[in-house]
Amino acid sequence: METNLLGNPEISRESSNGWVTITYANGITLHEMEEEEYKRFNQKMAEKHDMSLEEYQQLLTDEEKNWCSCEDNHQATYHDDGESDLSDKHCWTCNNCNLLVQVG
Ligand SMILES: [Zn+2]
Repeated sequence: METNLLGNPEISRESSNGWVTITYANGITLHEMEEEEYKRFNQKMAEKHDMSLEEYQQLLTDEEKNWCSCEDNHQATYHDDGESDLSDKHCWTCNNCNLLVQVG
């Protein structure tokens, strides 16, 4: 049986309209897009950006690399619109790794 990050066991899993609702023993529910639905969604987004699915997935991977994944809460630095290479909008970057913590 699967458990969530806090170690609570999964008690039910229901699928409807491309979404899965997972309920854990502590009463927390999680909504996840089904794999096939997620693929269709990305395919649509790729077409919107005039890209192939592979190009779009690469874009998502590249964007993910711009986000901080430090485990501790480090201090962040504010950047005004256009001042950071990582975002056109104003944003906060982590003082530890210099990656994005928040955009907007
Ligand atoms: Zn960081």
